[in-house]
Amino acid sequence: MTAALLFPDREIAERYYVPLVYTACRTCYSELEPQEIFRRAAAGEVSPAAMQRLIANVVGSGHGSTIEHIVFTFAISGVSRTLSHQLVRHRAGVAFDQQSQRYVKFKDAATMLPATIAEGDPALRERFEDQVDGALELYGDLVDAGVPGEDARFVFPNATRTNLVMTANLRALIHMSGLRLCTMAQWEIRRLFQLIRHEVFGVSPFLGSFLAPKCVPLGYCDEFNNRDGHCPIRPHRDEVLGAWAAQRAAAKAAGAERGEPGGSGESGEAD
Ligand SMILES: Cc1cc2nc3c(=O)[nH]c(=O)nc-3n(C[C@H](O)[C@H](O)[C@H](O)COP(=O)(O)OP(=O)(O)OC[C@H]3O[C@@H](n4cnc5c(N)ncnc54)[C@H](O)[C@@H]3O)c2cc1C
Repeated sequence: MTAALLFPDREIAERYYVPLVYTACRTCYSELEPQEIFRRAAAGEVSPAAMQRLIANVVGSGHGSTIEHIVFTFAISGVSRTLSHQLVRHRAGVAFDQQSQRYVKFKDAATMLPATIAEGDPALRERFEDQVDGALELYGDLVDAGVPGEDARFVFPNATRTNLVMTANLRALIHMSGLRLCTMAQWEIRRLFQLIRHEVFGVSPFLGSFLAPKCVPLGYCDEFNNRDGHCPIRPHRDEVLGAWAAQRAAAKAAGAERGEPGGSGESGEAD
């Protein structure tokens, strides 16, 4: 699998992307016209640190429209149809174009072999490979017999590899990365987003730093399946709320001992 960033390159990212987002943020709080804000930012009259500080604050406050002004285009190759089905579930702020199984005749269709099968029971691996090879052979026979590709493809396994072009604005990319870099995500799409993050880092470490599992900006994990805390990146929400409730109860009890209003046993009303 590969994920190559087609656009922007480092020069465009450095020269225009941060100034563009800065302009979107700054316009909200400035009497200046946006073109003047952009001119100053692009001319180096605003320090990169000041631009980054404002952008980080605005994004951290959830004002996401400011980062919809910049897009990233990736060439994604050799991923399985299992992955692409998950990927194209994202709708907002993202565009896809995918290799057609109607118009492309797959002579030697490439497939994905998951590590758990590759490194698992050799007999099961052999059966898996036979099954996949058999499906691809039947596809070839069907096409040779005149069955249109759009029908012959019904025999393709989920393991079949595919290629896509994906363009996402930064807000969408952060959202997608939040879900897909999470350890709850399936390994293949998680790997893809690790590659995507690496590519964005390559042109802008600052913008790339926003691509993280969703628990990182949230500060806690909200995944139901991690209530046991087996993923240690951030504490689970239940744990955080439990600690908060315990702390609040302790503070209330301590207040009651000191006879403060609001402590247990007190009405909490002012005299
Ligand atoms: C770990 C994991 C497991 C999953 N398991 C399953 C599964 O078992 N079955 C399954 O079907 N799917 C599954 N999904 C897919 C998931 O339900 C979403 O469809 C997918 O992640 C796309 O995310 P999104 O809905 O946030 O869409 P995006 O298109 O990325 O949308 C971004 C955000 O925009 C807003 N938005 C977008 N469209 C609308 C709209 N029409 N109305 C209102 N707000 C909107 C929402 O706030 C949304 O979060 C899974 C995803 C993950 C990450």
